[in-house]
Amino acid sequence: MVYHSTRNSALAVSSAEAIAQGIAADGGLFVPAFIPELSAADFDALKGLTYAERAARLFKLYLTDFTDEELRECTHNAYETGSFETPDVQEITTLADGSMLLELWHGPTCAFKDMALQILPHFLTRAIKKTGTDKEVVILTATSGDTGKAALAGFRDVPGTKIMVFYPEDGVSSMQKRQMQTQEGANVCVCAVRGNFDDCQNGVKAIFTDPEMEQALAENGMQFSSANSINWGRLVPQIVYYVSAYVTMLEKGILKNGERFSITVPTGNFGNILAAWYAKQMGVPVGHLICASNINNVLTDFINTGVYDRSRTFHATVSPSMDILISSNLERLLYHMTGENDAQIREWFTALKTDGKYDIGTELKNRIRAEFSGSFWDDDQTKAMIGKVFAENGYLSDTHTAVGICAARDFLAKAADKEPMLIASTANPYKFGAAVYSAIGGNADGADEYAVLDLLQEKSGMPIPAALAALKKKAVRFTDVVAQDAMPAYVKEKLGIR
Ligand SMILES: *Cc1c(COP(=O)(O)O)cnc(C)c1O
Repeated sequence: MVYHSTRNSALAVSSAEAIAQGIAADGGLFVPAFIPELSAADFDALKGLTYAERAARLFKLYLTDFTDEELRECTHNAYETGSFETPDVQEITTLADGSMLLELWHGPTCAFKDMALQILPHFLTRAIKKTGTDKEVVILTATSGDTGKAALAGFRDVPGTKIMVFYPEDGVSSMQKRQMQTQEGANVCVCAVRGNFDDCQNGVKAIFTDPEMEQALAENGMQFSSANSINWGRLVPQIVYYVSAYVTMLEKGILKNGERFSITVPTGNFGNILAAWYAKQMGVPVGHLICASNINNVLTDFINTGVYDRSRTFHATVSPSMDILISSNLERLLYHMTGENDAQIREWFTALKTDGKYDIGTELKNRIRAEFSGSFWDDDQTKAMIGKVFAENGYLSDTHTAVGICAARDFLAKAADKEPMLIASTANPYKFGAAVYSAIGGNADGADEYAVLDLLQEKSGMPIPAALAALKKKAVRFTDVVAQDAMPAYVKEKLGIR
């Protein structure tokens, strides 16, 4: 399997190169030359296997320059060494209304990003060796909260790597901030940026694509890579969990062979929902894909109008990991759906940069709408849904998942054909404890993030995840705050280069 850039179909690199580079030099994203298809017999063959075994088989289809043994080592290290608190890695919970939650947050940092970021360091260190460079990898990551912590946890003390994480100073929950500021490990660095997530992301992208910076790193035996969901090594593990969820639903008799179901995904950067779309292309019988947003509703507008317009007010919400105005992974969907029209992608993404928007036209918009719908929900609606789901099921959902539940219920209420519904549940509710606590009728005013954990446990009966309870005893290590334009100098300083 070779990988092309969304902005240059003639470029062809191996999967190891795609993972090692993170983003193509032309600014495009790496995409597989074709999407492998699975037959009913292939799905059958995945039954009875552990999550790690399933993952290794599926990775083999995309990461063809990795050996079976390497892939099995990677999946073993990521999923079978106790960092996930459930042996199945992911869990499916059925609510009273019949909809199913795909819980993806049983990993060490309590958000779905662990599913990919526990394995990415293993892919990346092997990919670097395969590409023949012995440079030290510097992972540079912009985060809206969860990616940063999950990347830090994944890369902590991995030989041959350093990791630097930038987060928006006031754009993450207090628990997310605490998780990052207390990160242990000799190769980690965390810094706040004055601004929002897009400012962080733009700052990181600018550093990545600065030739002078690249040169300075190379002279010091280093190279950048990315742990953001623009890295193919993040997306492919996400495809795995949708395929695996389908196989598990077959095993449990929830679905019959080939029975269609819809998937709702609370979305920010469009990575998680794009993984569901890839799973569909591979043969998972997915009906509709529902893209759920908070009031940063750029994707809802895009799906409804075909115009992606980032020029709008940025809102901080109770679902901060979805407070995003530029959904990078949409570029991959558009590339595939335009028949790999790289010239068209270049035109649109240049327009996004210069005019803040692009228009895909009616024909493509209609094709996208045949597969996707979008809706958005404000903080009051999100919290009301947390309260409702708790009252109906005794089940606590986090703020992001609740946005998904809002969108899923709305979709089903209007749908003529009521297919089973799988909703991606993206974080443990304790990660956003204050909002969740107030949603179920509590008042946490004045309580710090640890007191909120106790209050929420008392009221809900759901156990506090050990990883969050343990933070209280950890020292705060990182308190730096910089402006976006000071990021390059900060990176150089921390890496000890000029
Ligand atoms: C990152 C994140 C999202 C958004 O995922 P994307 O892949 O960026 O669409 C949703 N919920 C939570 C809890 C997250 O951490």
